[in-house]
Amino acid sequence: MSEKPELTVSVVTPDGKVYENQSTLVICKTTEGELGIMPNHTPVLASLAIDEIRVKVAEDHFDEIAISGGFLEFSDNTLSIVASAAERKESIDTSRAERARKRAEKRIEEARNKHDDSELKRAEISLKRAINRIKVSGSSK
Ligand code: ATP
Repeated sequence: MSEKPELTVSVVTPDGKVYENQSTLVICKTTEGELGIMPNHTPVLASLAIDEIRVKVAEDHFDEIAISGGFLEFSDNTLSIVASAAERKESIDTSRAERARKRAEKRIEEARNKHDDSELKRAEISLKRAINRIKVSGSSK
């Protein structure tokens, strides 16, 4: 009986390792678009968007992880994801993310009124992170 080849995926943040598993398919959102990585994929280095990654762990199940930007490296069937922050779907505090979304929206409004472009950019990134967490925590419910 031949086993399906697998890759090892790990997600690391400045707080430590958030996730590690074996998988036959990982779907990532890079800044260039969606990238599906299967075992024996050619080596790749890419930057990650504020979005989710989906890790196939069973025939009909993917683990989902919210990624607040970072990069990925794949070689020798090891996928290393280094993210500025990352949370597994199950550990996302949705009400915290809702509060962060409201704070970011208020900051955006204030930055627009003050014509403060650098604060506007920071607040827009905070908003993206909050919306991404809300989306991932609620996906496939
Ligand atoms: P907040 O304003 O709610 O702190 P943030 O976007 O400023 O949100 P980050 O700086 O991206 O937060 O993350 C700080 C730490 O908190 C990281 O470890 C991150 O994984 C975690 N974190 C942030 N928001 C959430 C959330 N809604 N649920 C679970 N963990 C979260």
